[in-house]
Amino acid sequence: MTTDNSTIVDALRDVTDPDLDEDIVSSGLVTDVSLDAETARVELGLNAPHAPTESAIADDVRDTIRSLGLTPDLRVAEATHNDDVFPNVTNVVAVASGKGGVGKSTVATNLAVGLADRGARVGILDADVYGPNVPRMLDVDEEPVVDHDGETDEIIPPVSHGVSVMSVGLLVGEDEPVAWRGAMAHNVLSNLFDDVAWGPLDYLVVDLPPGTGDVQMTILQGLPVTGAVVVTTPQGVATDDTRRAMRMFAEYQTSVLGVVENMSGFVCPDCGGSHDVFGDGGGRELAAGVDVPYLGDIPLDPAVRDASDDGRPAVLTDEVAGEAFRNLTGRVADSVGQLNRWRRANSDERRSSAR
Ligand code: ADP
Repeated sequence: MTTDNSTIVDALRDVTDPDLDEDIVSSGLVTDVSLDAETARVELGLNAPHAPTESAIADDVRDTIRSLGLTPDLRVAEATHNDDVFPNVTNVVAVASGKGGVGKSTVATNLAVGLADRGARVGILDADVYGPNVPRMLDVDEEPVVDHDGETDEIIPPVSHGVSVMSVGLLVGEDEPVAWRGAMAHNVLSNLFDDVAWGPLDYLVVDLPPGTGDVQMTILQGLPVTGAVVVTTPQGVATDDTRRAMRMFAEYQTSVLGVVENMSGFVCPDCGGSHDVFGDGGGRELAAGVDVPYLGDIPLDPAVRDASDDGRPAVLTDEVAGEAFRNLTGRVADSVGQLNRWRRANSDERRSSAR
């Protein structure tokens, strides 16, 4: 039997996208196929590097090509950036919460470091003007360096645990009065959007201020946000605030990647048992109620706080919470991938060409 492109494409119809429940040829994920002697080059529209589901799809494609007696050569189609704010950033992931103190910055830093630990190119933009804690959580205290060489001055973000870090705290100073910081927020943030030399990134994690105020609006209007991770604690008062935050995203047509329940069960260092201090299951119920993915829970564990205070996030540790953050990281990357693939499969362009 001679193998040609159509044989390869037909074989690839056996690979299913588990999230879309559709084969990868019909969903438009296969963007190009070419054969060069015994090597089959397959280009796929995968957009969430190091996401477990996308890695599994790529493995299935390689196996399928090998079953045809060919050598697979997988390429990723160039990501489509529809915005010139961050032309080198593939995915912007906002981390949000309905109110302060629920662990939003903790989740944002662990997520960023967890993604970098999986091998992705990651940056974190700490836009929490009211409590810019990310530099401390990642042990960054140096002044940002400004590069005057190019046409315009650029801020070079310091790197910690493999993550490029920029924070309003590094520019405004953590000890400045909050009211002044609020007034400066718009100005500083606009500069942060434009002037930071991020370089190519797979994921830029943005730590939003808590709640639904002006700064959040500035960010949602000014940045090409792929989707938002919403952090809540289990108890009812927190989930009510979280619902309000989700309505804000709906108003700004920002997709919610899912809900994380933080401080879910207290891991007692003395007895080793887990106690539900704030109740249990609020985040899961909330996610189910508005039909968004539930991304998992993170225990209330003193090791999480200690790790943040030491500038070495818990995701890098062997603690129970470390495992929880690693699982969370995979699910967030999977949710980003699922959203991107769904958008590709349902894009206007594809729908009109199918007509
Ligand atoms: P937010 O950004 O929502 O205001 P932070 O991430 O700054 O909240 O967290 C508030 C405090 O709670 C910090 O001291 C942090 O170390 C601690 N914390 C957050 N999550 C946990 C957790 N799962 N277990 C223990 N302490 C936590």
